[in-house]
Amino acid sequence: MGNYQCIICGGETASYSSSPGYFICGCCGVVFLERSRVVSPEEEKERYLKHTNGTDEPGYTGMLDEFIKVCVAPFAGEGSFILDYGSGPEPLLARFLEGRGYKTDTYDPFFAPEKKFEFEKYGAVTAVEVLEHMKDPLGEIKIIADILKPGGIFAGRTMFLPQEEKKFANWWYRFDITHITFYSPQSLAHIAEAAGMELILGEAPCFFVMVKK
Ligand SMILES: [Zn+2]
Repeated sequence: MGNYQCIICGGETASYSSSPGYFICGCCGVVFLERSRVVSPEEEKERYLKHTNGTDEPGYTGMLDEFIKVCVAPFAGEGSFILDYGSGPEPLLARFLEGRGYKTDTYDPFFAPEKKFEFEKYGAVTAVEVLEHMKDPLGEIKIIADILKPGGIFAGRTMFLPQEEKKFANWWYRFDITHITFYSPQSLAHIAEAAGMELILGEAPCFFVMVKK
């Protein structure tokens, strides 16, 4: 059985026997879908357009409020310049942040592809429900670390892995075909370290904050 090197730390991986196509790293604990099984960018975009993260969804907007309260407001200075990375078809989080006095940019490979961030430094970068879609999380998070000012934060949300392999097999989160990489707080700590940051919050079930050293 061909196993892969971990996409985060280069460690040895083992296949998740009850979930064919998925591998877990013995070192940092990240779980990822075999890259040959990942959907095409066209299918990926189509799937995002079907997501309805509209303001009419109280669950979603409530989550964004909670995210800002727990992950952004305590760490980002007042009026900080924030990039929402992976802003989606509708830049809802950016609007929420602006409503709270922050200045924002958005980036999304499908819906806001202009890389304005290449010429900027930010006090914070946010990524809500983004890391689970990343094919090369370490590569992308290194870019994010690069565009943060020292002391700036990278804050996001992604559902943390269930502890047991058996739970993963039936986990709703993995059935979204665009979700291909899954993390524990330990995996996020590895990524932070490799990108010159430190994980300062990894709160179950889903919130994290890294700070640039
Ligand atoms: Zn690893």
